[in-house]
Amino acid sequence: MRVLKFGGTSVGSSENILKVLAILKDYNSQQIEIAVVVSAMSQMTNTLVKLGELASTGDESYLVLLKEFEEKHITAARELISVKKQSAVFASIKRKINDLEDVLHGVFLLKELSLRAQDLILSHGERLNAYTIAEAGKERGLKTVFVDARTIIKTDSTFGAAKINFEVTNKNITQYFTENKGVIPIITGFVSSNENGETTTLGRGGSDYTASVVAAGIGAEVVEIWTDVNGVMTADPRKVKNAFSLPAITYVEAMEMSHFGAKVIYPPTLQPVFTKKIPIRIKNTFQPEFEGTLISEKSGEAHKLRVKGISSINDIALLSVQGSSMVGIPGVSSRIFGALSKSNVNIILITQASSEHSISFAVDPADAVKAKNAIEEEFHYEIGAGRLEKVNVKNNLSIVAIIGENMLNTPGISGRMFSALGKNGINIAAIAQGSSELNISAVIDKKDISKALNALHDGFFLAGTRTLNVFMVGPGLIGSTLLDQIQEQSSYLSENKSLNIKVVAIANSKKMLFNEEGIDLKHWKTSLEACTNNMSFDGFVEEMNKLNLPNSVFVDNTSNKEIVAYYEKILGNSIAIVTPNKVANSSSYAYYKTLKNTAFARNVDFLYETNVGAGLPVIRTLQDLIHSGDEILKIEGVLSGSLSYIFNTYDGTTTFKEVVLRAKENGFTEPDPRDDLNGMDVARKILILSREAGYELEPEDVKVENILPEACIKAKTVEEFFDELEKADEVFQKLSADALATGQKLRFIASMEEGKVNVGLKLVGMEHPFYSMSGSDNMISYTTKRYQLNPLVIKGPGAGAEVTAAGVFADIISISNSIS
Ligand code: ADP
Ligand code: ASP
Ligand code: MG
Repeated sequence: MRVLKFGGTSVGSSENILKVLAILKDYNSQQIEIAVVVSAMSQMTNTLVKLGELASTGDESYLVLLKEFEEKHITAARELISVKKQSAVFASIKRKINDLEDVLHGVFLLKELSLRAQDLILSHGERLNAYTIAEAGKERGLKTVFVDARTIIKTDSTFGAAKINFEVTNKNITQYFTENKGVIPIITGFVSSNENGETTTLGRGGSDYTASVVAAGIGAEVVEIWTDVNGVMTADPRKVKNAFSLPAITYVEAMEMSHFGAKVIYPPTLQPVFTKKIPIRIKNTFQPEFEGTLISEKSGEAHKLRVKGISSINDIALLSVQGSSMVGIPGVSSRIFGALSKSNVNIILITQASSEHSISFAVDPADAVKAKNAIEEEFHYEIGAGRLEKVNVKNNLSIVAIIGENMLNTPGISGRMFSALGKNGINIAAIAQGSSELNISAVIDKKDISKALNALHDGFFLAGTRTLNVFMVGPGLIGSTLLDQIQEQSSYLSENKSLNIKVVAIANSKKMLFNEEGIDLKHWKTSLEACTNNMSFDGFVEEMNKLNLPNSVFVDNTSNKEIVAYYEKILGNSIAIVTPNKVANSSSYAYYKTLKNTAFARNVDFLYETNVGAGLPVIRTLQDLIHSGDEILKIEGVLSGSLSYIFNTYDGTTTFKEVVLRAKENGFTEPDPRDDLNGMDVARKILILSREAGYELEPEDVKVENILPEACIKAKTVEEFFDELEKADEVFQKLSADALATGQKLRFIASMEEGKVNVGLKLVGMEHPFYSMSGSDNMISYTTKRYQLNPLVIKGPGAGAEVTAAGVFADIISISNSIS
């Protein structure tokens, strides 16, 4: 005999009930004996709870809701039962609904909802549903009979969560099954009755328990819990997209997972079958061919994962007891827990600081006040004498737990857990490890729960596969090139680096597009255009924080000034930043330092390799030198692609204006070439390099030599500027002639020596590394203690969308090395 239990979603509509009947038929045709337990139709128990609440507050709208409740059952019956039988079935449903209406009317008049009345109200969900399914089965040639479990499952009178009297119940089960052979009983889950025959229930989710009790009572070969997911998964698939099914777990693991919030199985379910060693199989009604999960004594070879599951309890309160009374006095904990147990408070988790100065424990928020009062009463004397503080209650907390029998004696698991949480800025309020080492749990802020579950899940299960969630602002030339590069590389990165770069947000100056599942990079332009979300930095940052995704990276591809004001907040929220935008690092030294400190304190990356020399490894090299103990004596660089091109090309054979014009036409300069020629861009770059080298410098410390004649600077338009530049050609001719005469070349050089920073036009001779530059190359030389005679030189293309985007991309990838 097998006991099959179908949960609410499996029997939520006539369409789904037909799927269930097909499964029953299948067993029938294989001549497998079955007994069936069913829940109420999906959401109907919640509706019944609501009906009771409305009636008890004197709200007449309960009648409207009751009508909907009735309609739902009548519709299902109409769709499942043939016309000639319908009137009898409708009449029976109607009778039950009338009874329900009477109870609700009583509650309405009394304005009081006792747990006893509530149980009677809730029982209607299962009773109506089991009846309809039994009738629908008969119509399809199955020998289904409706069984009201109240006649079999006997309990005490703890309404709301009654305790089973197994002696009587088991007798009833044996009697029923001996007297009713050859039929398929369709038994109401969840409902039961006390010794006076009054209706009780087994607690929310209790249909699983009914199935287990029946199975244990008849010594079934297996209990099958049919639900709406593919068995027990590594985490709740509604919260963790990457969760996958476990082929087998042990009773103990299942127990632990269900206790820590895995709703797929109701915690008390396991006890009766566990004692009798009856296995449970969790199956999916919507994918019956899938094997599901076997819960038995051993998970065997089937699954060797150390951590099997990650669960959460979304809402808990954490109570702390502390004070000098605690130290070394035996019996304090037993008094605490004695007081709690007397008040019927269930303790979810306990931690005690090794100093013995405090004990914290988690309870259901509904019990928090009761628990606080119970302890304060117990320690009335000690609190009065100031030896113990009043009980501190913290709300809005959740618990995440990792669970698995094989964690036992495996070092490093808790370290991995806490580093995954820490890396994502998730604060841990308390930690507990069951002495059985079956689970490690952490109390965290409720707002972080989804991030924590996903970070832990990826950390433990996706063997090395890591996901970076990218939020990008500025899909201009660099940004869109970057998106192309990410798209092209994605399969390579996932195969070779087990890295998944998910772009979850793209914003331009007008709109912002968010998609937690990842934006399809083939169509990002049209999606961004079509989206209706107006862009604002505030809105973007707020949405990013709200999503609270693990391993988040903010990529700023703009050159915007306002946006950098948000960097501190972003880093403060444990979101990494990658940017070619120079504004932040070249603003005040204080802000530069604040950002660095925040990134350090939050243990997140702040990467800006492309601030200088595009994709060339300029900043990283400098940092590596310093971290490895070198000392930077001097930095020299040709740091502007535009100026590099201009002075590498200008040799006096044409006018200087011609050269600048050509540079502009080739896209090597800003729209107004004075923005390059004024040296400010170079000044920002050398400032950043000098700061990286350890010098505390402000923007005004950089001395920029002006190379443009006054009239050029004052010119109102770009055309006017070119006219003035032509007039001033003599100045440049002279510079060029001087250079030629001395066998040197003109280079626009930024330099830093002992904290003195200069930017300007210089003459360099053949011995100088910058002498032989061409095109728009950048070149940087570091003279250090180790590279004193022969400076370390980095040379290559220092501008252009492709190389800059590649540099940003490399920064993003390097973040993946530090995530779990
Ligand atoms: P039923 O109505 O069939 O009793 P429940 O809603 O009580 O179904 O339980 C099934 C739900 O449990 C799933 O839809 C899933 O969201 C949730 N769940 C939570 N944790 C897990 C887990 N580890 N594995 C599978 N499902 C889980
Ligand atoms: N219908 C009940 C509930 O929703 C019992 C169950 O579904 O297991 O809690
Ligand atoms: Mg359930």
